[in-house]
Amino acid sequence: MTGTLAVIEPATEAVLEEIPRAGAAEVDAAVAAARAAYPGWRALAPGDRAEKLRALVAAMEAAHEELSVLESRNAGKPISSARGEIGMAIATIRYYAGAPERLLGDTIPVAGGQAFTFREPMGVVGLITPWNFPLAIACWKMGPALAAGNTVVLKPAELTPLTAVRFGALADEVLGGGIVNVVVGPGRVCGQRLVEHADVAKIAFTGSTEVGRSIAAAAAQTIKRVTLELGGKSPNIVFEDADVELAAASAPWAVFDNAGQDCCARSRIFVQERVLDAFMSRLETEVKAIRVGQPLDEQTEMGPLISADQLSTVSSFVPDGAPVAFRGSAPDGPGYWFPPTVLCPVAPDDRAVREEIFGPVAAVIPFKDEDEAIRLANDTIYGLSGSIWTRDGGRALRVARAVEAGNLSLNSNSSVRVTTPFGGFKQSGYGRELGPHALDAYTEVKTVFYAT
Ligand code: NAP
Ligand code: MG
Repeated sequence: MTGTLAVIEPATEAVLEEIPRAGAAEVDAAVAAARAAYPGWRALAPGDRAEKLRALVAAMEAAHEELSVLESRNAGKPISSARGEIGMAIATIRYYAGAPERLLGDTIPVAGGQAFTFREPMGVVGLITPWNFPLAIACWKMGPALAAGNTVVLKPAELTPLTAVRFGALADEVLGGGIVNVVVGPGRVCGQRLVEHADVAKIAFTGSTEVGRSIAAAAAQTIKRVTLELGGKSPNIVFEDADVELAAASAPWAVFDNAGQDCCARSRIFVQERVLDAFMSRLETEVKAIRVGQPLDEQTEMGPLISADQLSTVSSFVPDGAPVAFRGSAPDGPGYWFPPTVLCPVAPDDRAVREEIFGPVAAVIPFKDEDEAIRLANDTIYGLSGSIWTRDGGRALRVARAVEAGNLSLNSNSSVRVTTPFGGFKQSGYGRELGPHALDAYTEVKTVFYAT
């Protein structure tokens, strides 16, 4: 171990817990433990592996409130949101508990015999996760990885490691040691060691585009499999024929949810000129009503940012003289508070339009017609999510097909469901998590030819 890590509560700036901090030696030990546990886990009959995962679900359900409170305090998110996220983490493991018995292959007609395909596990999989949805995102990876017969080493973000550590203890009790290994330490040491480790077959990463780029480059040395879920700058497109009241009433939650620290945040709001005033007027009412406050208060809708660094980054997008149309409220310190903020009018080349802010700042940009909306929406290096609001069914599908993003919602702002694939186009990453497709990312296809 390389000393201790003080985990901070962002709403109070107080130390929540001090935990041991791992270095490269602990990563090596975790990989060795995962490697030792792999043959046994992989050899379990599919129904028995499914049964073990169902027992893990039961253990998580029993700890639902405890995990929710821990996530709420450590990540600074409203307790109501934390309960929903832990619920999703549980639902994800439950969904993939059905997978071991459904990993089907093909039989393919060939000359001189018969060919079969098998979905083989990869071995030890390294999971590197961010601080915004800590346990939920870890479970998006854990579920398909374990179901397919892999063992894992999870490196959570140092800012929010507590639910991962608790989850690791539950997994040890229920599954046995070595199958889920949690290592808490700095990304540049522990994350990088996992990426470079010759005994790690695959890295599943969620985080920034910048770190994703360096992981892809480092993984090339060992031809490691990599899936990347990276940043976003998602569009929310409101046409004049939409239910503008509904679009405006739900727009705050499309960007200010989790205090804007959401890779799917629809932080570029494009509104057709003729309905701009009506949209802005309803949006203002909604933004001013957002209850920003202590995460454990049941009434709270938005908490603080994760850290002092994040607060200074987000603040840099709203300098003196920025075109602030209106803002919501925020408590005074201590805590890393920032009020929900709407910028309008904003030029398409403004930093607040081009860069991922990862905080509660939205830019509203008017547009003239459908072609311009599509062009503006696609004018970004990212392609994760987006929403399209219109009552014209043909337009809804036309625009959904034209926007370069992995996840689009029509007349809704939701992006993520346990049962549907989730992932990015362009520099938002590659590979898909959740749904049936995620299993492809944690298995290799093997072809066997049997001469007859
Ligand atoms: P980050 O800085 O990229 O860190 C993500 C994880 O990578 C952390 O565990 C970090 O460790 C680790 N890491 C840092 N440097 C590394 C390196 N050189 N090698 C290996 N691992 C390394 O991202 P973040 O600040 O936690 O999260 C914010 C970003 O995540 C945003 O850009 C957001 O869009 C993105 N995100 C994407 C999705 C999605 O599904 N597409 C979901 C959530 C978040 P430490 O921090 O502990 O040092
Ligand atoms: Mg970071």
